[in-house]
Amino acid sequence: MKYDQARWTHDEDRYEPLLSEKHTAEAELDDSPLPADLTRDSLELPAPSEPEIARHYTRLSEMNYGVDSGPYPLGSCTMKYNPKFTEDVAALDDAAVHPDRSPESVQGTLSLLYGLQDYLGRIGGMDAVTLQPPAGAAGEFTGVLVARAYHEHHGDDRTEIIVPESAHGTNFASAALAGFDVVELPGGDDGRVDLEALDAALSSDTALLMLTNPNTLGLFERDIEEIAELVHDAGGLLYYDGANLNALLGRARPGDMGFDIMHYNVHKTFATPHGGGGPGAGPVGVVEDLAPFLPSPQVERGENGTYGLFDPEHSIGKVHGYLGNWLVLVKTYAYIARLGDPGLSDASAKAVLNANYLASQIEYEVPYGPFHHEFVASAGDQDAADVAKRMLDYGVHPPTTKWPEIVSEALMTEPTEIENRTTLDQLAEAFNAVAGEDDETLRAAPERTTARRIDQTSAARDLRLSWHALDEA
Ligand SMILES: *Cc1c(COP(=O)(O)O)cnc(C)c1O
Repeated sequence: MKYDQARWTHDEDRYEPLLSEKHTAEAELDDSPLPADLTRDSLELPAPSEPEIARHYTRLSEMNYGVDSGPYPLGSCTMKYNPKFTEDVAALDDAAVHPDRSPESVQGTLSLLYGLQDYLGRIGGMDAVTLQPPAGAAGEFTGVLVARAYHEHHGDDRTEIIVPESAHGTNFASAALAGFDVVELPGGDDGRVDLEALDAALSSDTALLMLTNPNTLGLFERDIEEIAELVHDAGGLLYYDGANLNALLGRARPGDMGFDIMHYNVHKTFATPHGGGGPGAGPVGVVEDLAPFLPSPQVERGENGTYGLFDPEHSIGKVHGYLGNWLVLVKTYAYIARLGDPGLSDASAKAVLNANYLASQIEYEVPYGPFHHEFVASAGDQDAADVAKRMLDYGVHPPTTKWPEIVSEALMTEPTEIENRTTLDQLAEAFNAVAGEDDETLRAAPERTTARRIDQTSAARDLRLSWHALDEA
């Protein structure tokens, strides 16, 4: 079962053998009560010593790059440092509750969830919140289903959802998955929503306009109140993609701008662990008129102060098992409670300051502005993907590339509030060093990473999710 190293790595790549490739020993097998055709007679298992195990995993961790290794300015993703105290809170014995227990016996759990619904509602200016959806994209889909149920309840057969061309791919996907026709809205010259184009796109078929604000260029939609009025006058609803909420935290609220539905990406805005496909959470908030359509059950607080569960009157049903990804929600709660109002508004102030400072320090052209929490530079004649690979050689994670497409060879950059000036300067130096390099150097990058150029298309399309699958290739 030794796999062929050469097939998986370039000659220059660093390689850490599997434990089972290094030391195996014949395991002692006890007599088993299972039928003979389900058991085996011999089994080779890794048998390393403790220091060998410690070094193996330390080496593996050093081959990776994460928010604990250095700056991670991946625009739109809001890659914040995850404070370790939230892990401690989630690891408390009291957090380990079986989800099938009766509401009477898990009052602490329900009070935390109720408290989080309340926090998120107040932060977003929403009247009711469900914590069930397990990611931002799942929150979008839930929100779209809520909008559909609302319109259907009013006997209103609306078939279209309007999405700006610069929107995140999940917006188009959520709308299409829920059975709507997607109407793509071209952007205005200033990178914002073009009111005339919006007016032309709106009709009695419009169920929803999905927006993020600030938008994916990091620009605040100044006409948001007028946009809300146009959509509402056409009988549609306004959806807020909460991925950029970090820019407004503690300062402005989507509900006050006229949004009816929103999701919160807690792994972005509220620093719960991010990536790797989860577990995450994407709670959804709605205004009062839409609350009866939220997923069931919802957590409520009775008059006598005890907590319970109820099914909203016209609920769309469940979108996740039990009450959502509980331990992620515990971390969200802990983060918000620790920061408090002053901490949250301080986070958004620093996020905006950091993005604008970094934008002013880099030599690449930055076509729009002024920005909120992120900016989009253009790599110009260079290929943005090559720029990203080369930045790895300078010891920093690159920005998001080639999106939004309004900016050619886009470098969408979001330093977040966690970085100090020294780190921002280090990022600027990396950008500027790469800006001066020739195509040949860029195409050969990265040279100093564990793995060199990876075939990204195969990595995404030809998934091998277990070690055994490597042998089938
Ligand atoms: C991240 C993101 C999403 C999707 O959220 P996930 O939690 O990754 O599913 C949607 N819209 C925007 C603008 C985003 O940045």
